[in-house]
Amino acid sequence: MNTIGIKPGSIIKLKKVHPCGEDKWEVMRVGVDFKLRCLGCNRIVWVPRRKLDKKIKKILDKNDNE
Ligand SMILES: [Zn+2]
Repeated sequence: MNTIGIKPGSIIKLKKVHPCGEDKWEVMRVGVDFKLRCLGCNRIVWVPRRKLDKKIKKILDKNDNE
């Protein structure tokens, strides 16, 4: 899956679950590097776009229910 369509405020799901048990992240910044905030523990990480392409499982709309 690619990262086109991801905007600041998007919620994304990654293939790998964070150690806190959460797999959803809020996108805070987009660009060459993406700034993500874990919805479980609020940890902030920066991920290069090409890495995120491989890690991402799903883009959830902000208003999507799961
Ligand atoms: Zn976490």
